[in-house]
Amino acid sequence: MSGGFFATRMDRFLGWARARSLWYLSIKTGCCADELMETVGCRYDIERFGCVAVEDPAQADLLVVTGVITQKSAPEIRQVYDAMLGPKYVLAIGACACSGGPFSELGDQAAISGLQKILPVDVFVPGCPPRPEAIMNGLIALQEKIKGGNRRVQAGS
Ligand code: SF4
Repeated sequence: MSGGFFATRMDRFLGWARARSLWYLSIKTGCCADELMETVGCRYDIERFGCVAVEDPAQADLLVVTGVITQKSAPEIRQVYDAMLGPKYVLAIGACACSGGPFSELGDQAAISGLQKILPVDVFVPGCPPRPEAIMNGLIALQEKIKGGNRRVQAGS
């Protein structure tokens, strides 16, 4: 067996393992948090995808952000992200986290027009609010991305 072949198989195995054990830390600042909590409940049960909630950034692989991001909360969110160990991933849930949502549309100067302005976001789940099925689709898309090893880095990272 050649070294290259072994390294490729190992990368695929690590990608598979990482995708199937996403420990996530969530920041909930808006009503989309209800939909996220719904995905954790017994009906949708995202734990069956290996997604387990943690409270310590050092234990988290995935940062899940819902709700509007303000000028005041942005440095705190960045601090949480910086405290996570790599490889780490970011999921933006809802119109507010993706683009500022209705707050940006109404010209709220305190609202930041999307999480990608402060962090590299891997997957966006639009909607106001997105249905639990959409959140699960976002998680599955992220898992596929991790398994494929092609991480998209957004502008502003
Ligand atoms: S996207 Fe809509 S539902 Fe979600 S936090 Fe913003 S206003 Fe609330």
